[in-house]
Amino acid sequence: MRVTSRTIGLVAHDHKKQDLIDWALSRRDWLAGHRLVATGTTGGLLADALGQAVHRYNSGPLGGDQQIGALISEGGLDALVFFWDPLYPAPHDPDVKALLRLCSVWNVPVACNRASADLMFGGQSLDSDTYHRDIPVY
Ligand code: PGA
Repeated sequence: MRVTSRTIGLVAHDHKKQDLIDWALSRRDWLAGHRLVATGTTGGLLADALGQAVHRYNSGPLGGDQQIGALISEGGLDALVFFWDPLYPAPHDPDVKALLRLCSVWNVPVACNRASADLMFGGQSLDSDTYHRDIPVY
């Protein structure tokens, strides 16, 4: 199968960063074939964990979400893995909503949690008996 390099956005809020790193490590070989862009802190952590170059925009609260939104509106983003936090308020909540909105406007696939990322970009199928979804413990 021919593999085309895509531009993939990666963003995680503070309490979700480890989840995103864990997922990214599970998809390290796949991610290595693509160009990665991220908000500032997320991108630094991912670059260290993956040993792969990650283009880093500003930190989310300082405009990074909007920069990725601009990339979407220019047709430059193929997919987004965005582990936003449903339990902690973000100072840049309007930017978070705007980023999710632009994904819908431009029909960009976006995974907002581990299960979605596994199904969308992890080669797993909901139809498979081997598919398993972890239930978080709070
Ligand atoms: P960060 O931004 O990667 O710089 O933490 C993410 C966000 O809060 O949207």
